[in-house]
Amino acid sequence: MNITLIGGGIAGLILAYKAVSAGHAITLYEAGTIASGASGKALGVLVPVTGLNRPIDLLQREGISRWPALAQQLADETHTPLASFWRAWPSAPVPGTQQLNIATIFSILAQAIRAKSGIIHENQPIQNLDEVRPNADHVIVSAGYGTKALVNAPITISTGIAARFTGHIEDLIAQDNLFLCPDFIENEVLAGSVNWSLKEPHTGPIPPEKQDELLRRVHALAPHLQLKDIWLGNRPAQTPRTPLITSPEPNLHVVTALGKIGMGVSPALELPF
Ligand SMILES: Cc1cc2nc3c(=O)[nH]c(=O)nc-3n(C[C@H](O)[C@H](O)[C@H](O)COP(=O)(O)OP(=O)(O)OC[C@H]3O[C@@H](n4cnc5c(N)ncnc54)[C@H](O)[C@@H]3O)c2cc1C
Repeated sequence: MNITLIGGGIAGLILAYKAVSAGHAITLYEAGTIASGASGKALGVLVPVTGLNRPIDLLQREGISRWPALAQQLADETHTPLASFWRAWPSAPVPGTQQLNIATIFSILAQAIRAKSGIIHENQPIQNLDEVRPNADHVIVSAGYGTKALVNAPITISTGIAARFTGHIEDLIAQDNLFLCPDFIENEVLAGSVNWSLKEPHTGPIPPEKQDELLRRVHALAPHLQLKDIWLGNRPAQTPRTPLITSPEPNLHVVTALGKIGMGVSPALELPF
């Protein structure tokens, strides 16, 4: 079948990879460059949610449990050393904790999709579904916040800030939803995130009080770290917190609103046809 996907974040890329792997012809349209939405701003820390059993929590635990096999498959298919983009943290407080290298995981997924003849168009925003529906057996809208304009979905935003520090920590530190994790780059540490909810994406500078909050919390845990870079990302979400996975028409599907844990959730997303 001919499958069109709109949005090249982690959700769209993993669904595209599953579709080409199942023998479908896929075309993915991304408004900017691959992972230029929330996905490229993630830390890449995959910590299974504990003590909660909402649909998003079940999906996240299932998704994280699938990452080791998926990462190995991507490593084999793209001839990329596994340890350069995925690793387990067996010493972390929550069993099953893993980490993805955000600097490379999306290009590895894109490479694996293209190797199976999948077509990825970057810098091609889709303004209207009529542009793509005539040529596709199925359309999957995985456009993050952009989904709202395309299918009038009730998407909100969970904004988050994260940062990179120079310095060394031996192990992943997790405290009250703040994670400090050694990066794949030696002597660098990722930290995040401080979050707040919005109706529209935050576009201006990082609010100083949020930046101060993150730096204060990191400093309390690891005072020797030096700030190198700090960024903000607008994660697609829904209120109440639940993923939006629905088929408004038999050949039109929506997959988004993965909130704060979409990197973990995504391998559990199934092709909706
Ligand atoms: C600071 C921060 C830290 C995070 N850390 C983690 C973490 O450690 N672990 C974890 O599991 N999750 C983490 N997340 C959450 C995770 O990043 C998100 O849940 C996930 O990236 C959502 O992926 P997505 O594909 O649904 O959306 P997006 O990544 O936003 O992708 C949607 C894509 O669609 C494109 N698009 C939009 N409109 C159109 C259009 N009209 N036509 C074509 N393309 C369009 C956008 O450009 C975008 O690339 C973090 C997020 C942030 C901001």
